[in-house]
Amino acid sequence: MNQAPPHPLRQCNFCRRVQTESNQWQHLTAVVSAPLTNAVIAAICPRCYEDHVRSHLAGLFRAAVKEPSCALMA
Ligand SMILES: [Zn+2]
Repeated sequence: MNQAPPHPLRQCNFCRRVQTESNQWQHLTAVVSAPLTNAVIAAICPRCYEDHVRSHLAGLFRAAVKEPSCALMA
């Protein structure tokens, strides 16, 4: 019987790295050698959060401030 990870692996949606038990983010092939099926859940690593999500949220916020929602004026 294969040894399954005790917890589902968290895999970053952007860079596809996975979170290890020591809280590092590494490429999937560096962590496990066998193909995984349902043991991976979607996540975002801290680096991609900074690179992608934070700037995206900042852009959304600026757009919302620039163009007030019609619902607010109704
Ligand atoms: Zn990432």
